[in-house]
Amino acid sequence: MTKVQCFTFNPFQENTYVVYDETKECVIFDPGNINVKEDKILSAFIEKEQLNVVQLINTHCHLDHVFGNQYVVEKYKVEFSMHKGEVPVLNSFIPTCQLYGIPIKVPSPNPTKFIEHQDVISFGNTQMLALLTPGHSPASLSFYCEASGFIISGDVLFRESIGRTDLPGGNFDTLVNSINTHLFTLPNQTIVYSGHGPTTTIGYEKENNPFLT
Ligand SMILES: [Zn+2]
Ligand SMILES: [Zn+2]
Repeated sequence: MTKVQCFTFNPFQENTYVVYDETKECVIFDPGNINVKEDKILSAFIEKEQLNVVQLINTHCHLDHVFGNQYVVEKYKVEFSMHKGEVPVLNSFIPTCQLYGIPIKVPSPNPTKFIEHQDVISFGNTQMLALLTPGHSPASLSFYCEASGFIISGDVLFRESIGRTDLPGGNFDTLVNSINTHLFTLPNQTIVYSGHGPTTTIGYEKENNPFLT
């Protein structure tokens, strides 16, 4: 059984996910930890559960999802993966921090591996299917764990909302198409772990999401 631990970090209230199973191997998705206090919260959980961090993955590279990249790569010496189409977003991390008045000076490390649509992410006894779901950002990925019935959706789908589409590379029609094609085709009971806000399910969003009904 694959478990998901959520932490809400940084001024953007971004959800960082630690996904792990009985083997104790884990993947960190979108580390948003922005300061020493949040670094410690993340690492304290990993130590308490005696997890072995095997990979860092970004669903997409907006600043709120990558603040902790440097910390995670340096502390756990792990592979860092994302979609190639997010490289320009990652490269604009420092200028974007300046734009928002956030005093971050250290850039994110560069990815060591790229993930393509329909790649399978394997760790421990867990498999997660990567789905290319652009529209909020140019090459946002969602990660579906069929065996445990959940998806990490980044900022693509939220409870009763969807990701904003006014940032560079965003497009409303593309986003709605991504959701209809790759998310709303999953079983209704699939739990959605979003980049912001509470969890939801595919079935609930099909019925209640005002942007998609
Ligand atoms: Zn975003
Ligand atoms: Zn976000």
